[in-house]
Amino acid sequence: MFIHRKEPLHAVEVKSSDPAFAQKLLEQFGGATGELTASLQYFVQSFHTDDPGLKDMLQNISTEELGHLEMVGMLIEQHTKKASANVQDAAYKSSLFSLRGKGPHFLDSQGSSWKADYINEGANPVRDLRANIAAEAGALATYEALLAISPDEGTTRALQHLATREVAHTEMFMSALKQMSKLDDAIFGDLKPDDTVNVYYNLSSSLGGKSERGPWNSEPEFKFVQDPLEQRKKGSLEGGAKRH
Ligand code: MN
Ligand code: MN
Repeated sequence: MFIHRKEPLHAVEVKSSDPAFAQKLLEQFGGATGELTASLQYFVQSFHTDDPGLKDMLQNISTEELGHLEMVGMLIEQHTKKASANVQDAAYKSSLFSLRGKGPHFLDSQGSSWKADYINEGANPVRDLRANIAAEAGALATYEALLAISPDEGTTRALQHLATREVAHTEMFMSALKQMSKLDDAIFGDLKPDDTVNVYYNLSSSLGGKSERGPWNSEPEFKFVQDPLEQRKKGSLEGGAKRH
């Protein structure tokens, strides 16, 4: 069951309203990287694992994200309330709140409706935890963009807390993967990989033949195939290098 407490997780105190900024905040309310997406993603994933520790973590973080949704909702409410009271407010009139009304809506900053398609879940705990690291990265990137244009001190303080918690969640999901020895192992199912598992195909090349090299395409982890077409003519694209 759920019990709602009226006090937010962290103070939300907007001094002066900015409806244009509130519209950007919608990205974290009804947008792809937003708190609704995160909360529902972790909630549904919690039913997909029998591990009591993992289930507990997903349910706790899902509930915290719902608390974040409340904070973002309060920020939008405070940024639009005062502005809507002033009929002369040109910024309010030019925002989507002039049509939909003050306060948050399940829309992103461009007015597109929230979609369940934003949720990434697939019942395999490793896949789910990796999806969660990506979800947290998306949320953190949006919060950093919002912080860069935050119009007032109170908004900045709330956003700093929200951004910080996404960093904390990322660390927690990474810890869970590490415990499963899946933080740096791409294979997690029953797949028996073929000989190409370590092969890097140089399929984007310049006329000069220069190729960029890095640890992602170098020995001992990877075998670099300079000319895949030539090797294909020889009848094989297999690398044969041993997987670490
Ligand atoms: Mn959050
Ligand atoms: Mn999070």
